[in-house]
Amino acid sequence: MTTVAPLEDLKIIRKKLNGYVGFANLPKQWHRKSVRRGFNLNVMVVGEPGLGKTTLINTLFNKPVLTKNVDEEREEFPAVTVQLTASEIEEDGIKLRLNVVTAPGFGALTNNAESWKPIADEINTRFDTYLESESRLSRTTIEDPRIHALLYFIEPSGHSLRALDIAFMKQVHDKVNLIPVIAKADTLTDDEIVEFKRRILDDIKYQGISVFKPLVHETDDDDAAVLNNNVLSKLPFAVVGSTNYVQSADGRSVRGRSYPWGTIEVENENHNDFVRLRELLIRNYMEELKENTNNVLYENYRSAKLLRMGIEQDESVFKEFDPLAKQEEEKALHEAKLAKMEQEMKAVFQQKVSEKEKKLQRSEADLFSRHKEMKDKLSKQIKLLEDKKAQLEKQKLLPQDPPAPAPQKSRKGFLR
Ligand code: GDP
Repeated sequence: MTTVAPLEDLKIIRKKLNGYVGFANLPKQWHRKSVRRGFNLNVMVVGEPGLGKTTLINTLFNKPVLTKNVDEEREEFPAVTVQLTASEIEEDGIKLRLNVVTAPGFGALTNNAESWKPIADEINTRFDTYLESESRLSRTTIEDPRIHALLYFIEPSGHSLRALDIAFMKQVHDKVNLIPVIAKADTLTDDEIVEFKRRILDDIKYQGISVFKPLVHETDDDDAAVLNNNVLSKLPFAVVGSTNYVQSADGRSVRGRSYPWGTIEVENENHNDFVRLRELLIRNYMEELKENTNNVLYENYRSAKLLRMGIEQDESVFKEFDPLAKQEEEKALHEAKLAKMEQEMKAVFQQKVSEKEKKLQRSEADLFSRHKEMKDKLSKQIKLLEDKKAQLEKQKLLPQDPPAPAPQKSRKGFLR
């Protein structure tokens, strides 16, 4: 019998190579393969109508990725719906298949209590689709439909999170990388933003909501750690979106918003957190968002689902081998069989009775008509006889004529 040494007792022997072998080339191979395959990103954008979701997505990807339909323009929503907009964008020869899922109607109904449901359902359905495709026999081309990030837009009220925000975030935070953003940050002053962020973070902590935070890895260098800190320090991102070009204070043409008091530049870190959000979603942490979706969020969903299925299966297996349950089951089956037979016999009996009844009814009617026929015949005969009798009696009453002389015979016996 062989015994395996515990992992902590295993010694890793580091050895120097005598010459170039070639596996240092692996990152290049990986790079080539990734470029050939392209990348995909599935983002969900949720928030009340008019908070600047469409504008921010189009600003982030520098392309009119999202457009609005007539109902959305009019802000008329009978219900919360889930819509997918798929596009393919290219930068420096690298292709990105971008799927943006929106939820028009969220927060715009008379009763928003269940507004989160269609969105949570969509996230779960996408997990299920992936789980199904993973379990298929042929798994060579699995498309990843899972949501990699959810941008949740908070109204720039300057107060704190509303009940709707908390209810929504609580329903989805364990299924998706949640990234809260303060919409239209240019409508608040710098001090208001600082205070608003503090209150939001307090609420998030108090409510036990988890938001996406990139991790610092052991192998990360100092630059990576700084980048990570910069991103983390800005949560929740107070953003400004605009696809329009305006003139900055120093005369540059920049994407931004012009006001009588000055210009807000979208890509100026001193004006808002757009740049940090872009770093998190696209430039530096897209792969980490996907990794966290796959390794943590999907894994939790998958194991919970399999556990549920396993428990159900175990229950049914246990029932099968439980003699008492089996006996009960057999008894119920037997009783059901008897009841069925009884019902069938009853049906046959009833059918026979009704057939007999019909037959009897038919012969009764026959008898009746024959009786009537004979009665009519007899009445006719009686009438005829009575008529005859009356006639005879009439004749009897009439005076009698003398009888005619009898014819004479000749001597020879011939009549004359
Ligand atoms: P959505 O309904 O959430 O998709 O919102 P839209 O992107 O359609 O924006 C609604 C309105 O808000 C439009 O008039 C936008 O120009 C404006 N808007 C979008 N982003 C901002 C922003 O960051 N600041 C300000 N002040 N207005 C914005």
